[in-house]
Amino acid sequence: MSRTDDDSWDITEGVGATALSVARARVNETDAECPLYTDPFAHFFIDAAVEAGWTSPFLDDAGATQMMSAYIACRTKQIDDFFTAAGANGLDQVVILGAGLDTRAWRLRWISGTVVYELDQPKVLEFKQRVLTAHAARPATDYVAVPIDLRRDWPKALQEAGFDPSRPTAWSAEGLLPYLSAADQDKLFENIDRLSAVGSRLDVEAFGPDFYSAEGLARRRERIERAREAARAAGRPEVPDPSRLWYLEPRADVAQWLSERGWEVSTITAPDLMASHQRQAPDEFAELVPDTTFVEAQKT
Ligand code: SAM
Repeated sequence: MSRTDDDSWDITEGVGATALSVARARVNETDAECPLYTDPFAHFFIDAAVEAGWTSPFLDDAGATQMMSAYIACRTKQIDDFFTAAGANGLDQVVILGAGLDTRAWRLRWISGTVVYELDQPKVLEFKQRVLTAHAARPATDYVAVPIDLRRDWPKALQEAGFDPSRPTAWSAEGLLPYLSAADQDKLFENIDRLSAVGSRLDVEAFGPDFYSAEGLARRRERIERAREAARAAGRPEVPDPSRLWYLEPRADVAQWLSERGWEVSTITAPDLMASHQRQAPDEFAELVPDTTFVEAQKT
């Protein structure tokens, strides 16, 4: 799948299938002996996708898969804690951008009156709702799906769905930015900034220059080639090259962009975050830890 300005996808296709890979990592964490969090819904999504003919190309026991599962576990935990802290500080309006199969609206505890808005492609949110409804899963607070492409006029759709820009909001963008061009990323943050009342908070998984660089890409491609060979040998489907889904171009530094617009920013890099949870990548896979920084910010 090559990207176009108006492409769209279902859950098992292209960008959509990346949400399934994250759900699969959450199944692994949920089944771990000492998990950082549990997501009791993740396996429903995987079971439904498998029933519909999807097979994960990744081998669970491969070192690179385990490293990525550990990374996703730390990322999930980081953003879970961010929303819990936002709630403890009274924020009861939540927007999850590129929500995919994230189930925070179902599995976290929210302060009374919280509304969680989730934005993603229509077919992705349809799949999610269908699966959760089939399992009689009920959201833990008010939940509003906003099916829309984030390259379109999502602020209008969000406000039509009930979002109130005069109230402080807790926002997250997790596993999203590489799927947007640099220009669309700028527009995304301009819109977040415009819709954020003072006191709003944001947690973003920001990707650094190495992630978008030719050298970084070459390193990842080499690993992808190895994963492909292993998948072929195990009779798995072709491992997709995710770089075909990413917009690999230089872009604004998220922390700097936010600081310049009056947000108070704090950051933690992926290796530091993983170390804080005793989930460091083994040396052999350290170079595969994505060049990301978790940027937490509060609008002043
Ligand atoms: N944030 C979720 C998580 O961590 O579980 C999903 C991450 S998944 C890697 C990327 C998600 O971003 C997918 O669900 C995809 O559909 C969504 N996405 C990417 N580009 C998008 C766009 N232009 N409009 C709406 N959703 C988009």
